Amino acid sequence: MFRLVLVSKAFRYRVYPTQEQVARLNAWESALRFLWNLALEQRKLGLARPRDERRYPTAFDQINELTELRAALPWLADVPRNVCSQLLVELDRAWQRCFARLARAPRWKRKGRDVLGFTEPHPKTWRVDGSNVRFPKLGTLRTVMHRPLEGKPKTCTLKRDGEQWFAAIVCEVEVSEPAVRDGPIVAIDRGIANFGATSDGDMIANPRNLEASLERLAHAQRAVSRRKKGSKNREKAKLRVARIHRKVRRQRDHFLHAQSARLAKSHGVVVLENLNVAGMIRGHCSRSIADAGWSRFAEMLRYKLAWSGGSLVEVPAAYSSQTCSACGCVDAMSRRSQSAFRCTSCGYQDHADLNAAKVLLARANRSGKPADGTALEAAGRSRKRVGLRVPRRPLESSAL
Ligand SMILES: [Zn+2]
Repeated sequence: MFRLVLVSKAFRYRVYPTQEQVARLNAWESALRFLWNLALEQRKLGLARPRDERRYPTAFDQINELTELRAALPWLADVPRNVCSQLLVELDRAWQRCFARLARAPRWKRKGRDVLGFTEPHPKTWRVDGSNVRFPKLGTLRTVMHRPLEGKPKTCTLKRDGEQWFAAIVCEVEVSEPAVRDGPIVAIDRGIANFGATSDGDMIANPRNLEASLERLAHAQRAVSRRKKGSKNREKAKLRVARIHRKVRRQRDHFLHAQSARLAKSHGVVVLENLNVAGMIRGHCSRSIADAGWSRFAEMLRYKLAWSGGSLVEVPAAYSSQTCSACGCVDAMSRRSQSAFRCTSCGYQDHADLNAAKVLLARANRSGKPADGTALEAAGRSRKRVGLRVPRRPLESSAL
């Protein structure tokens, strides 16, 4: 017996707009930036009024006002109406997430810093036509369909990445619900010199090519700060930084996809240390690349495991690096160095990261296996009850 369920899958294709299309897309981006900032200002003004006079415009209110606004501003009217309303829906989502304390407040969109996408949310207004995408008002966009679409196409988003353009198409795909898999189980400890270590005894090294790119990135960033502000050479140096950033992101994503796919294939349950999401939002700049890598890794593992009926479990990480996986004794002295662990109580020896992974595995086994989705809250609760202070990790420079 199996049931069919609908899932959303995104497909991303490189598109090659003509020069005229690029010019129009750039004009649209300016118009959307204006619309976003105007709508955000309207919301902020509503919030600033005295308590009993506060009025929060909903996405619905703001979409209704679009008609009048577009009649007055022809350059805004050039952007397809659906694309404008979708932007207001996205702003509303960002606003709600902020109120639910899931994210920071939505920011002003600034030219040169923020890239806006154009989302056509209704499947009837755009279509895939052979190896072309037809987008309202733009017409035909030459597209490289490097893999076939699956299921029913729903939305299409055009977005710039540096000087390259992409179309992201979200489809509804019918898949059979996978049987529940509750094993084998593996725990992964986040490493410092390495990307991580598994309780099976494997070390996962950071990819070499990514480390090389990170060095090049730092070099290129220094070059920008040496150039005179507003000069042509500074612009060129900035473009180089943007290109290396894109390369770093792609190399990192490739590595994370490969690792998470491998683990989700070979294991039914993967245990990770509890991610401190609130702390990550506050975040330190120097660690942002490392944190982004690890939280993306967790996210990929979560959905890839869900596809195959497995689950991701998060356990508290407190003192996992000082706990012996053989006898459970907690002592800071057991951690001899960054990589060596020797228990002061029973003499057990192991690589420090491998030992920590085994500790995480033991914690997951002890707490039982919470169902997917509840794992995070369950882990959060148990940490509060124990009342441990999580020791701060040293700064990571070479990690992802
Ligand atoms: Zn021991």
